[in-house]
Amino acid sequence: MNDPLTYRADVSPDATALVDADTDDRWTVAEVDAAVERTAGRLAALGVRPGDRLALVFPPRPATVRVFHAALRLGAVTVPLGHRLTPAELAANIERAGATAVVCSAATAERAVAAADDASDVPVVTVDDGDGVPALDARTPDAVVPHDWALDTTALIPFTSGTTGEPKGVRLTLGNLLASAAASAFRLGLDRAETWHVALPLHHVGGLTPVFRMPLYGMTVVLRRSFDAAAVAADFERYGVTATSLVPTTLDRLLDATEGSLGDSLRAVLLGGAPASEATLDRCAARDVPVFPTYGMTETASQIATATPAEAQGHPGTVGRPLLWTAVTVRGDDGDERPPGEVGELVVDGPTVTPGYLGGRGADAFGEDGLRTGDVGYRDADGRLWVIGRTDDRIVTGGENVAPAAVAERLRTHPDVADTAVVGVPDEEWGERVAALVVPRDGSDPSADALRAHCREALADYKVPRTIRFAASIPRTDSGTVRRDAVRERLRD
Ligand code: ATP
Ligand code: MG
Repeated sequence: MNDPLTYRADVSPDATALVDADTDDRWTVAEVDAAVERTAGRLAALGVRPGDRLALVFPPRPATVRVFHAALRLGAVTVPLGHRLTPAELAANIERAGATAVVCSAATAERAVAAADDASDVPVVTVDDGDGVPALDARTPDAVVPHDWALDTTALIPFTSGTTGEPKGVRLTLGNLLASAAASAFRLGLDRAETWHVALPLHHVGGLTPVFRMPLYGMTVVLRRSFDAAAVAADFERYGVTATSLVPTTLDRLLDATEGSLGDSLRAVLLGGAPASEATLDRCAARDVPVFPTYGMTETASQIATATPAEAQGHPGTVGRPLLWTAVTVRGDDGDERPPGEVGELVVDGPTVTPGYLGGRGADAFGEDGLRTGDVGYRDADGRLWVIGRTDDRIVTGGENVAPAAVAERLRTHPDVADTAVVGVPDEEWGERVAALVVPRDGSDPSADALRAHCREALADYKVPRTIRFAASIPRTDSGTVRRDAVRERLRD
C-alpha cells in the first residue's frame, strides 16, 4: 500500500473526502479511491508512465482532484494550467513543460485540443465531470501498481502567477509537498476532521495543496467552481467548513456579503498571495473571523510564514514566523544578513524550497543561503516577518525611494476607498512619479484632491500620489497579486 488515498480508504473508507458544492454531490474516501483507481487505469492503458508530464486544463472540479491523485498513483507529474488561458498561452506552457499528454474536461476540451495541436501534437484525454473516467472505449483498465515515489522526484509543476513577467514553471518534489503539508499542520493545528473549502483555482499551489493534503490529513475538501461570495458563505454553514484559503480580495468580498462571523465551525482562514490591508484585518478581528495572514509562493509549495489570529491582532501587518523547518533571512544588496528591524530582500531556505524552475530558468535566484524571493521585508526581534513589497516595485521619484505598499496602505484608510494599487509611472521631471488607481466604495464619490489631502496627513510630500485615477476594479492575477503593468497602463497619460 504505497498511495496515501488507498491508505486513507483502508483507515476510514466511509468518511467524506470530497464535496462538489456546485451540485451538492458528496463522495466517501472509498468512492474517491475507486474513481482514482479507474482513472489511473485508463491513463495507464493510454500509455501514461512514471515520469510522464500531464498538463491539466480544468476548472476547479472533482475531476481535477481525481486526475491529480491518479497521476500521483501512476508516478506521473501534474502540470496544472490555468483553465482560462487562450490556446496560444496553453500551447506555450505545454511546450515549456514538455508535457506528454493534455488532460482536460468537456468544458475546456476545445481550447485544450487547439493548444495541443499547436504544441507539436500532444495527445489530449478528456475526463468527464461525472466520475472522472476518461471517455474511452469500454476496455477494462489495466491494473495499477502504485508508483514507488522517491522524495526528491518532481511530482508537481505549477506555474507562478506571472506578476513580474512570464510565468515560470516550478518543479516541486514529493518531499517539498510533504514538508509543506506537515509544517502547515503544525502551524494551523489540525483537528480530527477538518473540512477545507477551496474556491481558489486548482492550478495554483494555494488551491491544489488542500487537494494533495486531503488523504494525509484525513479531511474533507469542499470545491466551489468559482468565487461567489454569497454561495461560499452558504457553503461554510451547510458543510460545517472549518478551514479555507482565501486571497485578500476574496476575503473582502466575503466580508462585504455577510455580517458577523463567517460561520460557527470556521476556525482558520489562511489568507495569502498578497498583502492583507489593516482595514481587512480590523474587520476580521471585530467580527471574530479567525484569520491567519500568510506569506507564501509557488516556489515553496505555498506557505513560508503564517501568523496566528492572536499574532495578527497583536502585531498588525505581520505574516508571522516562518513555518517549521523553514528559515527566512533578510539580506542587503551585498548578500549580508540584516539585523531585526532593517529592510532587505527575503531569502528562504528549507525542505519546501523547489530544486529549480523548468528549463533551468532563474538559476541565479538560488544561492548558498537559499532562494532569493524578490520580496522585500524585515523581521522583528522575535522573528516575526513583515513583507512590504517586491524588489522591483520600488518607485524612485526625484531621487527619493517610495514603497508603493505604504502609500496604498494609507489610501485604504480613507473611508471612501474600497481598493487601490500604487505604482510608479514615467515622469519627465522626476524620473518616476507616484500614481494610484483607486476603486471608490459603493455609493461614494471621492475627489483626487481629498485623497491627496488624506495622504499628506501621514506621508512625506514626495510620496503623495500626483496622479490618481478611479476604476471599477484593480487588475489582479487570480492569486490576488496586483498586475502592476496593467495598472501602470491605466495610469499613463
Ligand atoms: P511571478 O513569480 O511569475 O512574478 P508571483 O510571484 O506573483 O508571480 P506566486 O508564486 O503566485 O507568483 O506569488 C508569490 C508572491 O506573492 C510572493 O513572492 C509575494 O510577492 C506575494 N505574496 C504572497 N503572500 C504575500 C503576503 N502575505 N504579503 C505580501 N506579498 C505576498
Ligand atoms: Mg514570484
